[in-house]
Amino acid sequence: MTVCVWCQRPLKTSLTLAQFWRWGPVTPPDICVPCQGRLSPISGQHCPHCGRQQTTCQLCQDCQRWDQPLVNRALYCYDAEMKAYMQQYKFQGDYALRRVLQRALATALTQLTYDILVPIPIAQSTWQSRGFNQVTGWLTGQAYYQVL
Ligand SMILES: [Zn+2]
Ligand SMILES: [Zn+2]
Repeated sequence: MTVCVWCQRPLKTSLTLAQFWRWGPVTPPDICVPCQGRLSPISGQHCPHCGRQQTTCQLCQDCQRWDQPLVNRALYCYDAEMKAYMQQYKFQGDYALRRVLQRALATALTQLTYDILVPIPIAQSTWQSRGFNQVTGWLTGQAYYQVL
């Protein structure tokens, strides 16, 4: 039985009509529908620099304060559920949780143009205590990512 990597409850999978007619292998989801609902995708209006969701498409207050704001795109709001996810993934070292964001990240990366992906390195002490880099965890196993 397949279980949700986040909550460990059994996954209820059902074949959609589109999957049936595609006549190929069906990849089961990694997380259940309730856990998917815990994530808040950033959609609609957002800051053009940092990607923070807001009610306008103007620079957010943080980016207005910084002289040279970063250009960043986030997939999800960093809310209480995302903080809980990061706590469990990064700080409790639950490496299986990398799968929660892998597909969404892979889809988002297909929509961007870039030459190379370079995960931000982590400190040696973090590597020794955590045992993995959270970003390479999200990228590992994807066709577009290869460790050199
Ligand atoms: Zn779940
Ligand atoms: Zn901003």
